[in-house]
Amino acid sequence: MSFATGLICRECGTTYPGEARFACDFCFGPLEVSYDLAAAHGVVTRSSIQAGPLSIWRYGALLPDPGEAPVDLGAGWTPLRRASRLAEVLGVRELWLKDDTRNPTGSFKDRVVSVALSSARRLGFTTAACASTGNLATSVAAHAAFIGWPSVTIIPSDLEKSKIAMTAIFGGTVLGVEGNYDDVNRLCVELAAEHPDWAFANINVRPYYAEGSKTLAFEIAEQLGWRTPDQVVVPLASGSQFTKVKKGFQQFIDLGLVDGDAPVLFGAQATGCSPIATAHAKGTNVVTPQRPNTIARSLAIGNPADGPYVLDALRASGGDCGSVPDEEILECIELLARTEGIFAETAGGVTIASLRQLINKGSIDPEKSVVAIISGHGLKTLDAIVETATVSATISPSLEAAEEALRFHQLVATS
Ligand SMILES: *Cc1c(COP(=O)(O)O)cnc(C)c1O
Ligand SMILES: [Zn+2]
Repeated sequence: MSFATGLICRECGTTYPGEARFACDFCFGPLEVSYDLAAAHGVVTRSSIQAGPLSIWRYGALLPDPGEAPVDLGAGWTPLRRASRLAEVLGVRELWLKDDTRNPTGSFKDRVVSVALSSARRLGFTTAACASTGNLATSVAAHAAFIGWPSVTIIPSDLEKSKIAMTAIFGGTVLGVEGNYDDVNRLCVELAAEHPDWAFANINVRPYYAEGSKTLAFEIAEQLGWRTPDQVVVPLASGSQFTKVKKGFQQFIDLGLVDGDAPVLFGAQATGCSPIATAHAKGTNVVTPQRPNTIARSLAIGNPADGPYVLDALRASGGDCGSVPDEEILECIELLARTEGIFAETAGGVTIASLRQLINKGSIDPEKSVVAIISGHGLKTLDAIVETATVSATISPSLEAAEEALRFHQLVATS
């Protein structure tokens, strides 16, 4: 049973029932899902959660009502791993990686899409749609196929080939737009008005979609043994994940489910698309849109919808925001793979490079625990590394040639 009560305006606090609505009638502010936490207190317990499925739906009481049954392709309950070898390289005592590469379509987006389409089905929508930088399109197309819905996913036409293929394979309609994500998003807002029975995951059902990101916080706290970490590094695109990770930890604290305080939250951006990091560094509340130019395509939103809320949260929690160049993103994809055996997409490189930057800058306390969210699988952005990650040597099929190449790579002692 869900303890969601409806929707509330994030700006003026006007409340609405849990219907198909995403903006406030009075101030046009964005809406979010509200909960009756007083009623949930003592009912949603550690053991009631542990009795649930091994997916995000173990937290169903703190998610929007999915109607008869959730659209559950198995998103969530991904590993939280202690990363001692990477911690040593970076000079921190206690580092954990939330390995969200392990979701059904290889990115954290499966969490938000599972919640968005569950709500969309309850609300009577009949087609799944989205504006996407890639991962959302893949996840929407997969979840739509899973429930037999048509899908319309709209992406910049020059996205990574692997992301386009991973979306098209599910059989929906994929529109490649000659423009960047901000152009795609503007087009989708217009399309949503024309097609009232299409659920655009991140537009007209965005309040429901966004709630899925809370499950990152819920899982991290549960997997740490029902305690909050001291610090969390979150990659930023629209900033939605960041604000909902904050909300998730706060709900667990309010319900008395965890030991510890709200963690200090840190953002991670690529310098080629860093409107939030730039505003934070300037100390302003105004996010100036930027034309993205980075290999971290999944994070390339130049005009982030949740930007001002992220800035508020960064300031309130004493956090900071990394801004890392493409060379460091590539270097840190490799560093993560070589120290921990996790192959992340470019967004993961942004998170690890930002983690390193924020440690070196003194913003992250190396004596306190830190969790980094690795939000997408490396197979999604193979294009970024195929040139450099390649065979050590090409040889003829002879023992002699093999031994020579191995000697060259110092695997066999030279006698
Ligand atoms: C979408 C996405 C994010 C974060 O997105 P928000 O819009 O900030 O919620 C992070 N990592 C990856 C890989 C993504 O695809
Ligand atoms: Zn309002």
